[in-house]
Amino acid sequence: MPARLIDGLALAQSIRAEVKNEVAQKAPAVGRAPGLAVILVGENPASQVYVRNKVKACQEAGLHSQLIELPLTTSQSALVAEIDRLNHDRTIDGILVQLPLPDHIDDHVIIHAISPEKDVDGFHPANAGALLIGRPRFRPCTPYAVMRMLASVQAPLRGAEAVVVGASNIVGKPLALMLLQAGATITLCNSKTQNLAEKTRRADILVSAVGRPKLITADMVKPGAVVIDVGINRLANGALAGDVDFDAVRPVAGAISPVPGGVGPMTIAMLLVNTLESFHEHTR
Ligand code: NAD
Repeated sequence: MPARLIDGLALAQSIRAEVKNEVAQKAPAVGRAPGLAVILVGENPASQVYVRNKVKACQEAGLHSQLIELPLTTSQSALVAEIDRLNHDRTIDGILVQLPLPDHIDDHVIIHAISPEKDVDGFHPANAGALLIGRPRFRPCTPYAVMRMLASVQAPLRGAEAVVVGASNIVGKPLALMLLQAGATITLCNSKTQNLAEKTRRADILVSAVGRPKLITADMVKPGAVVIDVGINRLANGALAGDVDFDAVRPVAGAISPVPGGVGPMTIAMLLVNTLESFHEHTR
């Protein structure tokens, strides 16, 4: 029997509807809607699509969103000044700076400049540290999305073997911490990992976040495993694909998420959830 499909698009739609409902209930009483500021520096076409999708999702859910598009030549200090202005803007609950930034700007300086209370991406060291010690404030949106997708198929996490392939600060590492917190035994793999297939075959929960098409083949998957594909790859024919060889893996897995229509839309939904949580915090 082919694996159950984890439909990120449908799940994201239902979460966005819940957010919209909550905003409609609370905003009139508070006198304002939750506010998200999205900053884009330069004209990277993929980033332009991502930020527009985020802003559109905000508008559809009744959030107030501010898209700040700055030229490629923007200096690091000018960007920090803009962030500082937003840190003090009482109509803004969340600040997101779209990555990657141009080479002359240091990501770490910028992430550090965002107030941890408005860091809805969860990348600030204070929020990363809070997650590490099991007291998260904002969970980074992509791993948070993966956790919600696992919950949607009631994947048992306590005592499960979870293997995360890819160990970046924005996906793999925080996801491994969230799975650990949920009681899973985690294996976190990176580009230096020896004999990857031996590790992935142990996984009850297998997540790939690398950015390499067909990295995960059917022989690397334990029968019945829940497989979540975070990867986004543009193929030579222009199509989008994940890291998992979907057609080959689906007959082996118990549940599987597609690309597109999986983690991508869910990541945006969780950004709205984080902004709403921040709004609740700021309007208590
Ligand atoms: P990254 O380049 O920062 O990190 C990639 C990680 O994969 C590194 O830890 C690296 O060591 C590891 N890796 C590389 N080759 C490997 C191999 N052969 N075997 C095992 N590990 C290997 O990437 P990132 O920012 O974490 O993104 C990863 C992928 O997820 C990309 O395709 C990206 O587009 C996608 N992504 C999707 C979303 C979403 O919303 N769906 C969000 C963020 C990232």
